[in-house]
This record gives sequence, C-alpha cells and structure tokens, in this order.
Amino acid sequence: MAEKSYEVVVIGGGPAGYAAAIRSAQLGLKTACIDKTLGKSGKPSLGGTCLNWGCIPSKALLDASHKFEEVNQLVDFGISVENASIDIEAMISRKDEVVQQLTSGIGSLFKANGVDSFEGMGRLLADGNVEFTTHDAQVSQIETNNVILAPGSVPSSIDIAPLSSPQVVDSTEALNFGDVPNRLGILGAGVIGLELGSVWNRLGSETILFEALEQFLPSVDHRISRDAKRILSKQGLDIRLGTTVVSVTASDNGVEVVYEAKGEKNTVIVDRMIVAVGRKPNTYDLIATDCGIETDERGFITVNEFCQTSLENVYAVGDAVRGPMLAHKAAEEGIMAAERIFGKKSLVNYSNVPAVIYTHPEIAWVGLSEEQAKGEGFEAEVGTFSFGASGRALAANDREGLVKIISDSSSDRVLGVHILGPQASELIGQAVMAMEFGATSEDIGLTMFAHPSLSEALHEAALGVGGHAIHMANRKKKK
Ligand code: FAD
Ligand code: NAD
Repeated sequence: MAEKSYEVVVIGGGPAGYAAAIRSAQLGLKTACIDKTLGKSGKPSLGGTCLNWGCIPSKALLDASHKFEEVNQLVDFGISVENASIDIEAMISRKDEVVQQLTSGIGSLFKANGVDSFEGMGRLLADGNVEFTTHDAQVSQIETNNVILAPGSVPSSIDIAPLSSPQVVDSTEALNFGDVPNRLGILGAGVIGLELGSVWNRLGSETILFEALEQFLPSVDHRISRDAKRILSKQGLDIRLGTTVVSVTASDNGVEVVYEAKGEKNTVIVDRMIVAVGRKPNTYDLIATDCGIETDERGFITVNEFCQTSLENVYAVGDAVRGPMLAHKAAEEGIMAAERIFGKKSLVNYSNVPAVIYTHPEIAWVGLSEEQAKGEGFEAEVGTFSFGASGRALAANDREGLVKIISDSSSDRVLGVHILGPQASELIGQAVMAMEFGATSEDIGLTMFAHPSLSEALHEAALGVGGHAIHMANRKKKK
C-alpha cells in the first residue's frame, strides 16, 4: 500500500528533473521530486551534475583562473601588478560557496512552487508507481499517475586508465585539486578536457591532452576549430591529436602514460591525469526489469521526439536520453515533459540547441557548420567578421576570434552561427533567437546593434553574407 500519492513523480533533481518538477507544480499538478545526491558536505544537494560538479563549479574555476591570468596582461593597459599569486584553497572554497548558494536555491524554488522534495533513491516499478529508499535505507512506495525519469549521466571510464589512485581522476575530482600539478595529463580533448585543461594550465600546470581523433573538435565548424586549436596551443595547451593511449599507471614517481602516435610508442610522466572521455547515462537500478522501458545499446532510455518512453505515462529527459548532454537541453526537455503531461502540445526545437566551450576565447555555435550544411545539400553562403576589427574587442584587449554565419544561398535563411571570441556564450543567444524566428542574414543585417559592442561582429558577419560588411573589405562584391 502506497503511503503517498502524486500526479507526477520526477526521479532526479538536476536541470532536467528540477525544471520538470517546478513546471509541473506551476501547472497545478501535485508533484514530488526524488534526488539522491549528497553534496561535498555530505548533505542532500539538489541541482544534479550541473550545479554540484558540472557547469557551475567548472565555470567558477574558469573565471578564477581567467582573472588570475588577466592580472599578468594588465601591463598592456598601463597597469602593473607585481607578484600576483593565487590561493588554491580560497579559490576552491569560493567555488564551493557558489555551488552551495545555487543548490540550496533549488530547495527554495521547490518550496515556493509547492514541489515535495524526497532525499534518496527513486526506482520505477512495473505497476507505474515509484519505490523510494531514504539515505538510511528506509523503503516506501509512492503512488503516481505519471513519472518523469531524469537520472542524468556519470563519467565514462576506460580500462587502460583506472581511477584507482588519487593521481588518476575524473572531472569531479579535478574540480577539487588542493594544489597545482606541475605536469597535468588529460585523456580526451573534448569539452571537459579543454575547460579543465584551461583552468589548470592558466594556474601554471604544463598541460598535455591526449586525443584519439585526428581532428580537433570535429563537430565544430572547421574554420573555427582550426583557429581555436591554434589559439589554445599558443596559450600552452599541448594538444596531441591522433594518440592512442595504451596504459596509464600511477606510482610514487608520478603517472606514466604510454601512448602511440604515428606508429611510434612514447612515454610521458605526469603528476596527475584527468580522464575526460565522455559520459554515460546513469540508469543503474533506476527501472525495475519488468517495467517494459526500452534502452539502447549504450544504455540511453529510448524516447520519442516528445521524450515519452515506451510507456505512455513515463517520460525520460536530459542526459539519460539521446541528444547533446547539455543542461539547457535537459531543462527544456523537462519542461516539455511536464507540459505534455498537463495536456499542452509543447515541443523542443532540437535544431537550435546552442553549445558553448568555455575556453578563452569561448567557442559557441548553433545550427549547422559550413561542412554540415554542404553535406545536407545546401548551397552555403558564408559571412565572417573578425574580432580584430571590432572596436569594442580592441578596447577590451580581447581581439582573437571571429563570427561566422552560414546561410542558405537560395532563401538566405540562417543555417548556423559559429563564434570563437570574447563572450561568445552571450553572443550566441542572439543567433539562437534569430534562428528561432527563422531569420535571414538580411534580417540580422537590417537590425540595429549598439556601438561599440561585441554584437556588432554578428551584425557585420550577417552583412558579409551579402557582401556588404562596412568595417572590413568584402571578398564578394554585391549591390
Ligand atoms: P544531472 O544533472 O546528472 O542530474 C541527475 C540527478 O539525478 C543527479 O542529482 C543524480 O544523483 C540523480 N539521480 C540519478 N538517479 C537517481 C535515482 N535513481 N534516484 C534519485 N536520484 C537519482 N552543460 C552545459 O550545458 N553547460 C556547461 O557549461 C556544462 N559544464 C559541465 C561541466 C562538467 C565538468 C560536467 C561534468 C558537465 C557539464 N555540463 C554542462 C553537462 C551538464 O552538467 C549536464 O548536461 C546536465 O547536468 C544534465 O542534466 P540532467 O538533469 O539530465 O542530469
Ligand atoms: P566529449 O565527448 O566532449 O570529449 C571526449 C573526448 O575524448 C572526445 O574528443 C573523444 O574523442 C576522446 N576520447 C574518447 N576515448 C578516448 C581515448 N581512449 N583516448 C583518447 N581520447 C579519447 O566528453 P567530455 O569532455 O567527457 O564531456 C562529457 C559531456 O559533458 C559532453 O557531452 C558535454 O556535452 C558535457 N559538457 C558540456 C560542457 C559545456 O557545455 N560547456 C562542459 C563540460 C561537459
């Protein structure tokens, strides 16, 4: 006999789950959210990977390390700061305070919206109800009409780099180093590798990234990924593409990394190694085996375009289902699931999911790259504008990178926008909005942007599609 009864039970309190729970309660549905995370202090901590050991703590360290690095560049502005130093313990505790503030904020939002919060494990049962196990192993049943599964993801591990010593760690541990490693190895030059590599490289680690692929950031527009690699390498990130790591062995003398590149075997000794080779869905013990919920060969819960599973009243959202593992995609899916349970016909526009890599300069994009557009049969028209010609970027001494806009030559509709540059994470929002409204590059060109601002680079790139950018020489000459 169930002790409690709800219209919606959400399992998982990350961006997908907490957004689903809040929206569901806003719509008047009696809602509970179950989350098992214990934070760094050992207490329940809402917000999932994103708030506890993902987006937020990594950005707190990226911002800290960027400010530290900037201090050494202030001389260009005529400002001299001597003997700047960084207190790693203070940097980490500031990061923990930011996390604490935001995770406790989710609890307040739950209270304000009337979401009941359950601290512990949730498990979907075959009868559609949910089994709830508290952190001290008390088991009960929660009756519910609908379930939203939002269990998120965990780091993938690989046999050649076991996380069996404190020197070989995943991204979670790499957010809590107590000191700056002299030499840092990173397995995987993807998003986490580049972001955490940037943090520790800026603070003084000699940083080597071992990447299996021959191509750097293959899903990013090639012009942007090529320029990004050049800039990041100049900053000191030693990005070794096409390397097959054979073994990673920790001992008192450091971590020995044996790898093959261009047919040759090499050995490097590093002080610490971060394994950042992707993440996998966190569905362990989430679903009773006789439920009838399907998963694919990699463990992702199978859903349709509306995030509905093979059972009509069970939805699954966020990192545990197909698509990019991004917090904003997760949250939008959570909101869609709640609204569809309520009866709305909500949709997520999967063509317009922005992505950002928070290096400096930042790398941000939405829609198709030039290569993808051509691959899909579009005749692509391209406009670019370099931040080196932007007054605002020059004034801020932040002039590396460019904006690239790809339009369909027959309709002029914007197919993709790719930005390498200062505040690309903010600028890309303007592109997402334009694309959401089906803008052409001419529409963006006809829009007025404040001067001087970084956004003008987007404006000029859009004008450049038609060959009439004002602040650069146009290759195409059009009337
Ligand atoms: P999660 O955030 O993983 O939340 C799932 C929650 O469910 C967790 O609290 C988990 O403990 C809980 N749970 C799982 N199973 C159960 C169960 N059976 N019972 C109860 N609770 C359960 N994305 C971005 O968009 N921008 C970024 O800048 C960014 N930076 C990142 C940096 C790092 C280092 C990492 C690791 C990830 C980053 N991400 C970023 C990815 C982002 O964190 C995820 O895409 C996002 O958190 C996914 O949200 P989710 O709700 O699906 O899952
Ligand atoms: P990723 O997929 O971005 O990168 C993993 C990299 O490791 C890939 O380039 C892959 O080729 C490489 N790799 C895999 N196996 C390897 C091996 N054996 N040897 C060498 N290289 C190998 O994954 P990630 O960096 O671990 O991040 C996981 C997820 O978290 C991403 O999907 C991302 O969406 C999300 N995330 C997002 C942000 C952000 O939005 N800014 C930040 C961090 C993480």
